[in-house]
Amino acid sequence: MPSLVSHPDEVKVVSRRFGLGATDIDKYVELDGYKAVQQAIAKGPEWIISEMKASGLRGRGGAGFPTGMKWSFVPKQSEKPKYVLVNGDESEPGTCKDHVLFLHDPHSVIEGTMIAGLAIGSKLGFIYLRGEYRYLLKIVEKAVADAYAKGFLGKNIFGTGVDFDILTQTGAGAYEVGEESALMESLEGKRGVPRIKPPFPAVVGLYGGPTVINNAETIANAPHILLMGGEAYARLGSERNGGTRLFGISGHVERPGVYELPMGYNLKRAIYEVAGGIKDGKKLKAVVPGGSSCPVMTADEIDVGLDFDQMGKAGTMLGSGGIVVLDETVSIVEFALRTIAFYQHESCGWCIPCREGTDWIKKTLTRVYNGGGNKKDVDNVQYLAENMLGRTFCPLGDAAAMPTIAFVKKFRKEFEDYIEGHKAGTPIITVEQLVGAH
Ligand code: SF4
Repeated sequence: MPSLVSHPDEVKVVSRRFGLGATDIDKYVELDGYKAVQQAIAKGPEWIISEMKASGLRGRGGAGFPTGMKWSFVPKQSEKPKYVLVNGDESEPGTCKDHVLFLHDPHSVIEGTMIAGLAIGSKLGFIYLRGEYRYLLKIVEKAVADAYAKGFLGKNIFGTGVDFDILTQTGAGAYEVGEESALMESLEGKRGVPRIKPPFPAVVGLYGGPTVINNAETIANAPHILLMGGEAYARLGSERNGGTRLFGISGHVERPGVYELPMGYNLKRAIYEVAGGIKDGKKLKAVVPGGSSCPVMTADEIDVGLDFDQMGKAGTMLGSGGIVVLDETVSIVEFALRTIAFYQHESCGWCIPCREGTDWIKKTLTRVYNGGGNKKDVDNVQYLAENMLGRTFCPLGDAAAMPTIAFVKKFRKEFEDYIEGHKAGTPIITVEQLVGAH
């Protein structure tokens, strides 16, 4: 098991059992596990939803939608069964928080799934892990089996007359399946491409039934919120951004790792104090603040609070909490090419702006990176990306376009220098390896 990092500024809520052996169900119970779900059974759906609304919890997968409100959208009466679907398809480059959660505290995801089920009147939940996390499935499946063995899952849970079941599923390794409607398609055994919305999953979701879909970290927060109270949880964070969040800080920092910090914590402090500053005393060049789809920030833009609203005002996004730190040796042209090569590879090909746009941007940036670019290439890359924005069925098109636009706007001179024949930074791998890899 990888060693855990920690820092005094952390506020451990969802990570409070990490490293304490809570994969063992008895240890989890000893650490207040499965108490919240019993409270939830006793107090009922309205109480659960009101606590979740009071908590100010917003989706930790990246969209930041208020969780309590999402749960309240599910119709009370439904002819079809209702479902809870946990999105553990953590595939955004730079993001590694759900991995740590499943590794150290799988029961909190199970308990959160049960609470979501009680809130919406569902009797069945699914925990979906990305294909590359197949090795974590053993941990999650053991936790589910242990919960059944104790009578915490299945018929008449905790002797209360309530039934709830959980099934696990892994994907085949497609980034696109992290999008909620593609996730449902994949779970139903079909090709993982998005559905047209509306209807939204809360009304017509999995197998046509009303479905709540939440990121794994979002779900794992639910038991903690019910135990501490929604308002107390909200006070840990910033305005309109309740609680804490797992941030995966990677790249050129002294102490990379997953840290739990209050919402609104300063990004600069997160890099320089929590993660120990830039590795080997080098200078900071840029930060991708929330996974690869978030517009890049320059070194002088990072004095900002890490919440959905403050990051939005700063022209970028909080995203999925994956902070990627780039030092002065990094070539932004190479980084932009690596980013678009990923999205081009992962595009499902359904809509033209995404399928063709990512391909043309990759081709153009490959030429620029190789030293064969012409002066119009930088404008063309920007033009292509701007014409993808908002013109695709699912957010993957935007996820590819937004970082590309920011790279070109904020580091334009570096792209022009490549065209003039002056390469910046130290190539990490050759362009053949880079493009061939996708
Ligand atoms: Fe597929 Fe891309 Fe269109 Fe999404 S934006 S539906 S990934 S082609």
